[in-house]
Amino acid sequence: MIQRMGEEERTVARALFIIDVQNDFTEGGALGVDGGAQVAAGVSELLAQHPRYYSSVFASRDWHDIDNDNGGHFARDAAPDFVNTWPVHCVAGTPGAEYHPALVTDAVTFHIRKGQGKPAYSIFEGTTEAGETVGALLTARGVTDVDIVGLATDHCVRASVLDALEHGQHVRVLTDLIAGVAVAPSEAALAEVAHAGAVLALSTAIVDEPVAGAAGAAGESGAAEAPTRDDAAESDAAASDAADNDAAESDAADNDAAESDAADNDADEWSGHS
Ligand SMILES: [Zn+2]
Repeated sequence: MIQRMGEEERTVARALFIIDVQNDFTEGGALGVDGGAQVAAGVSELLAQHPRYYSSVFASRDWHDIDNDNGGHFARDAAPDFVNTWPVHCVAGTPGAEYHPALVTDAVTFHIRKGQGKPAYSIFEGTTEAGETVGALLTARGVTDVDIVGLATDHCVRASVLDALEHGQHVRVLTDLIAGVAVAPSEAALAEVAHAGAVLALSTAIVDEPVAGAAGAAGESGAAEAPTRDDAAESDAAASDAADNDAAESDAADNDAAESDAADNDADEWSGHS
């Protein structure tokens, strides 16, 4: 896909990361988060509506050993602190480790497992069954842009976003398709990843085939697609437009810190990213 970037064009190959949409992280699971089932259904809808948008779809699962504490990740002899130690969850081969039933996985290109015998928050800590790493697969497939959805905002989503940025990807977090363990840490995580260079966007703003001139019009209507904000990397004028972007603001509306951070970030951080 060729995407207009203001005066320039660059070739975009997008991947989707679906982080840990598993039974144990959704309602009724060992570490269930509110809104988890809704995320599962929403991600399925995204893939159904945009079947050719992503050149690769990665889905991760926490996949822990049953016969040990996974490097201190499972609280065995004391109450879990929900920071470094957790109740037993996502044990390999158990129903809790399976994808949520509302997540349709037909479009998944790479199934990533992580956490065998150790704590692993980021999808980059996992591999395919054949042992391929996420970083190597992204490079091999020429992926330039990654959208990230899933669970939980304040832990594995956060860690995966930061690692994707570190890998050099243009990263968007689709904020209507994530859910967190706790409100304040989730808001802090979004502010942190926005400051680090991720764009906070809505899945409803995704347009299959961006065309020249459409991004500006969409910005006026408040239904801007991310390329408008990507343009901020290219020019200061575009950056100030992006700060007014309705989508970015409503996106982070439940989070004042993330909102101002995200708006500032478009101008500040992305200029160093081009
Ligand atoms: Zn775990």
